[in-house]
Amino acid sequence: MPGLVDTHAHLDFPDYAQDLPEVLERARDHRVKGIITIGISVSSSRKAADLAEEHPWMWAAAGIHPHDVKSVEHDYLKHLEEISRSPGVIAIGETGLDYFKHKSPREIQQEVFREHIRLARKVNLPVIVHCRDAHKDTLRILREEKAHEVAGIMHCFSGNAEFAREVLGMGFYISFAGPVTYPRSGELREAARITPEERILLETDAPFLSPQPCRGKRNEPAYVAHTYYAVAEVKEIYLQQLEEACLQNVNRLFGIQPG
Ligand SMILES: [Zn+2]
Ligand SMILES: [Zn+2]
Repeated sequence: MPGLVDTHAHLDFPDYAQDLPEVLERARDHRVKGIITIGISVSSSRKAADLAEEHPWMWAAAGIHPHDVKSVEHDYLKHLEEISRSPGVIAIGETGLDYFKHKSPREIQQEVFREHIRLARKVNLPVIVHCRDAHKDTLRILREEKAHEVAGIMHCFSGNAEFAREVLGMGFYISFAGPVTYPRSGELREAARITPEERILLETDAPFLSPQPCRGKRNEPAYVAHTYYAVAEVKEIYLQQLEEACLQNVNRLFGIQPG
């Protein structure tokens, strides 16, 4: 069997401070061949880059989470650019808009989101986009900032088939997380069903959003297996076919070869 990729985890979080080696071992035991660990601040991006340097099967993304942009350092872009040039860093993010929790004012979220896309284009890396209850503004800003030139991932996709089609129309990939396994997520499963194999990715968003069988527990990359099962079932394809598709997709988008 080809193997699994977790395209979005936060392994620098304190949640893993006690047992990261065991977490990584369990991931390997569950055939996870690659993990992208995602920065949410300058310091977290730096830690993510360090993790990627330490582990040949891990990669990192550098960005500021929309929750945290209100207190962002004035020279954060300079730092992110520098981090983005370390060898294991393959994307800019996470960045985007979150009008659900709304922890930072919209205007600042939008401005910082634009700056991330500009940086991604400058350093020629794909962007990892977080979008919660902000579909319209997210699409508008991605278009205005010409994000299709670098493409990227709409991560932890939350939306319906119609939104998925718009995202796909911009050349982006769609990554589904644990919620696609939840009983009430019919709309999300429909979005997964219509997302073509050559544009689909899967993730945990660990430590958050554990898939159904582990719901309520701390999430970790090994659990991405449950999301693979659920999506293969929804798409009515063999697990092996889905695994191959995801591996090819990360290779096409990031130029990486998990193994
Ligand atoms: Zn996110
Ligand atoms: Zn995240």
